[in-house]
Amino acid sequence: MTTFVHDFTDGNKDLKDLLGGKGANLAEMTLMGLPVPPGFTVTTEACRVYLRTGAMPEGLFTEVEQHLRQMQHRMGKTFGDARDPLLLSVRSGAKFSMPGMMETILDIGLNDASVVGLGRQSADERFAWDSYRRLIQMFGRTVFDVPGDAFEEELAAARSIAGVATDPELDTAHLRNLVDAYKKVFREHVGRDFPQAPHEQLFLAIGAVFRSWNAERAVLYRRQERIPQDLGTAVNVMTMVFGNRGENSGTGVAFTRDPATGRRGVYGDYLRNAQGEDVVAGIRNTVPLAELATIDPTSYRQLLSIMQRLEQRYRDLCDIEFTIENGRLWMLQTRVGKRTPAAAFIIAAQLVDEGTITLDEALQRVTGEQLAQLMFPSFDTTAAPPPLTTGVPASPGAAVGAIVFDSAAAAAATEPVILVRRETNPDDLPGMIAAAGVLTARGGKTSHAAVVARGMGRTCVCGAEELRIDGDSVTVAGRTLHAGDVISIDGTTGRVYPGSVAVRPSAVVRYFEGELRAHGDPLLSAVERLMAHADHRARLDVHANADTAADAARARRFGATGVGLCRTEHMFLGDRRQLVERLILAEDDAARADALQALLPLQRADFEELFAAMDGLPVTVRLIDPPLHEFLPPLEELAARVAHTQALGGDPGHDGALLTAVRRMHEQNPMLGLRGVRLGLVVPGLFAMQVRAIAQAAAARVAAGGDPRPEIMVPLVGAVQELETVRAEAESVLASVPGAPQIRLGTMIEVPRAALTAGQIADVAEFFSFGTNDLTQMTWGFSRDDVEGAFFGRYLELGIFAVSPFESIDRDGVGELVRTAVERGRAVRPDLTVGVCGEHGGDPTSVRFFHDANLDHVSCSPFRVPIARLEAGRAACTVTGSDSR
Ligand code: ADP
Ligand code: MG
Ligand code: MG
Repeated sequence: MTTFVHDFTDGNKDLKDLLGGKGANLAEMTLMGLPVPPGFTVTTEACRVYLRTGAMPEGLFTEVEQHLRQMQHRMGKTFGDARDPLLLSVRSGAKFSMPGMMETILDIGLNDASVVGLGRQSADERFAWDSYRRLIQMFGRTVFDVPGDAFEEELAAARSIAGVATDPELDTAHLRNLVDAYKKVFREHVGRDFPQAPHEQLFLAIGAVFRSWNAERAVLYRRQERIPQDLGTAVNVMTMVFGNRGENSGTGVAFTRDPATGRRGVYGDYLRNAQGEDVVAGIRNTVPLAELATIDPTSYRQLLSIMQRLEQRYRDLCDIEFTIENGRLWMLQTRVGKRTPAAAFIIAAQLVDEGTITLDEALQRVTGEQLAQLMFPSFDTTAAPPPLTTGVPASPGAAVGAIVFDSAAAAAATEPVILVRRETNPDDLPGMIAAAGVLTARGGKTSHAAVVARGMGRTCVCGAEELRIDGDSVTVAGRTLHAGDVISIDGTTGRVYPGSVAVRPSAVVRYFEGELRAHGDPLLSAVERLMAHADHRARLDVHANADTAADAARARRFGATGVGLCRTEHMFLGDRRQLVERLILAEDDAARADALQALLPLQRADFEELFAAMDGLPVTVRLIDPPLHEFLPPLEELAARVAHTQALGGDPGHDGALLTAVRRMHEQNPMLGLRGVRLGLVVPGLFAMQVRAIAQAAAARVAAGGDPRPEIMVPLVGAVQELETVRAEAESVLASVPGAPQIRLGTMIEVPRAALTAGQIADVAEFFSFGTNDLTQMTWGFSRDDVEGAFFGRYLELGIFAVSPFESIDRDGVGELVRTAVERGRAVRPDLTVGVCGEHGGDPTSVRFFHDANLDHVSCSPFRVPIARLEAGRAACTVTGSDSR
């Protein structure tokens, strides 16, 4: 028979799946002999049965009763006893902590009779009646969904009758009356009396905690935090201890190290004469934990020694909730504590120094996500005013700008602006592109604003619900701001500040740039140390996507060991557009050859610089990819110009010819049209010119004593025949350039057909590089530019995917094509080099996938290179982490 209940004496910290995080850690502390109030845990499995069937699993009540009897025996008190009642707390606790998302009910077991006993026993009637009214309130809300306002109204009425301003001023008589009023509220809303039987209270409370797993806010939270929806919560039933029994009592929270900076020391808050929830609720003023040393030296020393033991046990920073009842210390909770990204790096390095963990383990204590956060510029919070409000941190970064309320104003602005909207929709796209940051009053991490802003790396705070946006002004925290007023938004913390807050460049970026030295700085030395170890472990190389020598040089400083993708299209922009126009308008071979001949030296010069910057490292040059008409003026603009000239009786000339060309080249779906290798096969001489430029540039570098290592990459190949044709032409061009080094030729894999026929393609390609942006578009049939703003928010809400497939590789679909292509390609050509050059190359979870898929390298933007290096190292270490979730 399944056991659904485990005593705290019967479990340990590794049983989080079954006992939830809180329960497993209470058991661990009990096992360590720490002072934990006796109790037991109802398992997550019982919850899953309840959620599936709507009924408590068979035998659960009997088991609970048995454990309760043992507890009563140990405490020498009886549950619900009228003279000296044992009272219980019923606490939710899932595998991953979900702060404030689910329910906890305190003081279960109080009723009309035991409230009198509790008052006598504690010699504090007021305390007893206050506990009772809290129970009715918490129980009513949690178990029977009585609206919280109904109780709050009675509480306000009680204050006004008593003529006092705050709840603590209500005396025993007022509280007795309040209990009567609460009972009436309960009866009116529930249609029955507040249950007097303690056991009924207990079982109803357990059911309510189970149900709170599916509360709307909890479901939403899990979706955002990517916590599976089917885990269920455990329920911890434990003896109440009281921190609100006078000045010798109190309650507090503590951290074994500073969760903000990682510094060792005594961190936390203490509140005298209070119950745990009062500390968290911030109703009253807490004192720093260090003051407990004078308030209650014995408990303080005991707490410090317990904290030390917990750190040794968990081998990581712990956070703790405790209560002191009449000078006696009780541990109510511990877990591996959450921390800031900087603290994560510092603590991991400290623990290595202290001999507590290995470097491999230290790598698992930090994430690429955290490193990314450390690489964003941030506000100098010492110089910042108090925030106006805090919203959902949807897309990191620090943005300062003048408020604009509509997209058109943002697009027209010449100074940096913050687009402030109630919510955004696809019409706001131009404004979002133009703005330095986006701030919305509604919506969470899956709202349109959040999805689009993240997609384009724009700073965004959304769901700042206190904002009252009214046409051309916004009111928040009693202030009204108008268009043009400057604000500062922090996409990493969600804070919104008035005025312009000073922005600090990231110290970590300055370190990578070589502007700061790590020595003597705890964060930078920790980063240096962990990065070195990551590089040492990593099996994946990290290359960068860089089109210019400047980008390549930066990527190199950031640790890239190659350029995985150099796009050549920028080499056709600016002044060179005219040459592209000449190419397109060429009426015969001679004219076309002429135009290409003019482009050749320009390309050659670009490549020379790039090869010099990456001397000794591979540089993968992709032949031109976008449709050529992207280089021509837009149709509307040309048409208007031509019409204007004609209306004045003039001859549109060159414009007229261009217009005809643009009309001829118009495509319904340019993304699926004449681009990539198709261009190379249709426009004679275009690819040959590029190949020649690459070979000549390399030859020039060799002549200058350099070590250029170019590779040529053909985009959008779907059939081996395409690549064969390009290869034949390229080989003859390469053979004609004297002094050029050996140059490999490979292909992008970005069309599903290429992945499926990779075995054939590998016959002709010396390397593959997955273009996962296009591969994702084509596998899903999504046009990225259209779908992210149009319906991805809805898709995320519906759970069709937990994260946009453009942000993190879709393992099941796109990932399967990647695996297939690697397998089929290497079967034919065992030394085939395989990499990835889509944006996924810099995404932490995707890097892990590419490691598992046995790729040789990932390539990402220079800024993401350190993140990919760290993740490549982490992926190669198999030791497990320390889960603070
Ligand atoms: P959460 O998971 O939201 O932190 P908890 O289950 O920790 O919720 O409970 C909320 C508060 O109630 C805690 O701060 C804790 O101090 C207090 N509390 C819970 N159980 C007891 C107990 N047995 N005795 C005294 N206080 C308790
Ligand atoms: Mg807690
Ligand atoms: Mg592509």
